[in-house]
Amino acid sequence: MRFDLVTIFPRLCDGPLGDGIVRRAIERGIVDVRVHDLRDHTTDRHRSVDDVPYGGGPGMVFKPEPLFAAVEAIRAGGSEPDAIVLTSPQGKRFSQAEAARLARMRHVVVLCGRYEGVDDRVRAGLATEELSIGDYVLTGGELPALVMVDAVVRLLPGAVGDEESIEVESFSRGLLDFPVFTRPAEFRSMAVPDVLLSGHHAEIRRWRKREALRRTLAVRPELLADAELDSEEREMLRVLMEERGAEYGRD
Ligand code: SAH
Repeated sequence: MRFDLVTIFPRLCDGPLGDGIVRRAIERGIVDVRVHDLRDHTTDRHRSVDDVPYGGGPGMVFKPEPLFAAVEAIRAGGSEPDAIVLTSPQGKRFSQAEAARLARMRHVVVLCGRYEGVDDRVRAGLATEELSIGDYVLTGGELPALVMVDAVVRLLPGAVGDEESIEVESFSRGLLDFPVFTRPAEFRSMAVPDVLLSGHHAEIRRWRKREALRRTLAVRPELLADAELDSEEREMLRVLMEERGAEYGRD
């Protein structure tokens, strides 16, 4: 898979791409991440990428020409992108499902805005989609682009050592993950649950299912509406909800 990130701050991308699973995936050729300096696609002496907004108001806006030129240069390299993503707080919310969708693509371009945002003709006439990483405003699209690259790369076959770990984790079936522990078995009077030390695999599996449901019910109950639950989990959830009802003094 290939990503092309277009930014005025290429160096911002060095850290997140330079360590850990993402770095190893790049080294192994599982993913190719190319970072382009938007200013290389300007034509004036000052290499300007922004201008004042029509109609007045604060701040500066990214001009359309350099972004169109940057994408045309990427296309001229011979690969037609499957998606051209504009990062924006106004986009569709990026999620694990969106990461999985992008991970099935071959070539994704991500455009990183700055300042007050990007001339709307980029959204309308260049980008194929607009994605937001959450309901807050950042200073630029680089962190969102890197969040997307990170979430997608770990889904690519061979990127994460243990394939199973990406199948059982948070959100993969619409539930939060179960709690995990390692040695020592007791730390500052806090003990690891007995069942995990018992060696009873069936009981451990049931405990993990129940704890994943318990956490999801406590913290993100709205996820349960779309979660894929088997019959054992539906029964566990029914009992957990009864327990919670009892805690609040209802029948
Ligand atoms: N005035 C704009 C915000 C501009 S923030 C507005 O209210 O919509 C500057 C740039 O940062 C944006 O162009 C976008 O590329 C990026 N950005 C900021 N917050 C983001 C978020 N939550 N998700 C994705 N990109 C974001």
